[in-house]
Amino acid sequence: MPRSNSAELITLRVSIVKELRNKWRRERERNPYVNEHFGGFVNELLHDILEKDEFLRHYAPFLSEEGCTRDTLYIKDFKENKTAEVRISENKLHCSLCNSFACFHIQFAMATPRVAKLNLERKPIDVEIEADGQQVKNITRNKRRKNSISRKISS
Ligand SMILES: [Zn+2]
Repeated sequence: MPRSNSAELITLRVSIVKELRNKWRRERERNPYVNEHFGGFVNELLHDILEKDEFLRHYAPFLSEEGCTRDTLYIKDFKENKTAEVRISENKLHCSLCNSFACFHIQFAMATPRVAKLNLERKPIDVEIEADGQQVKNITRNKRRKNSISRKISS
């Protein structure tokens, strides 16, 4: 099958495609300027995520997401040289470092995709994604191990 050089085929999980398609339909109903092609819509969505990451790097260069558990998002503040713990309290995000519901760390947390993982009832799809993610991690780790072993052997 001939393909354009500017395109690459990737495999998406069926459940993700279904959710994306539903999102695309909903957004097209609300906004006529949303891309009329599903593929174009998905590309724009991913591009927006990359742009948001870039924006965050400029907006808050001294903050970085250090990780998260099911109820806490850890944000390293290099200005303060401390880590802010952001949790949901009274149905609002709360920052332990500033003891505030409205500080810069909260703004930053709100812009990260992981904020959506805090204290939410986990849907079956999340569990599935996590299992797949874990599998990919293991495969990558094994490949890295093999590569480093073969590098050691060849050197
Ligand atoms: Zn804070």
